[in-house]
Amino acid sequence: MDKIKVVGARLHNLKDLNVEIPKKKMVLITGVSGSGKSSLAFDIIFDEGMNRYLQSIGFPPKFEDEKPFDLLEGLSPTVAVEQRTTRVFNPRSTVGTKTRLYNLLRMLYAAEGVLLCPICKEPVNQSSLECDLCGMVVERKQIKHFSFNEPSGNLLRK
Ligand SMILES: [Zn+2]
Repeated sequence: MDKIKVVGARLHNLKDLNVEIPKKKMVLITGVSGSGKSSLAFDIIFDEGMNRYLQSIGFPPKFEDEKPFDLLEGLSPTVAVEQRTTRVFNPRSTVGTKTRLYNLLRMLYAAEGVLLCPICKEPVNQSSLECDLCGMVVERKQIKHFSFNEPSGNLLRK
């Protein structure tokens, strides 16, 4: 499904709102203060995405008398990056660093990634750490190799 479909959203100031949000696009939710932007984004879409993800890995469903919508389709596991006006903004923050997914991904790639020869870009023999094609010997995989701000970070792929 290429969109998230919300039918009958009703929470705080939302009164039976129907909306379709395209996926793989940058989508902005705008409106006057108190119109329900945060209710839609965080309290309905993010919460339900989190509930469904947790249930899919075995957590019991969250107890609710009644859901604040009639239908919600096309959801993937959700991540919310909320405004933090009390903190100093770090210009080097990314969605990955703010959510800490960046560290988890680097650890995953360091454990499961394929080491590439920096000369001929072919996969390196994992036990000898040597390129069978050109004989280049490389360093063992480390988390730093998967860092966007590390010079050796572009020698590898997952
Ligand atoms: Zn090579």
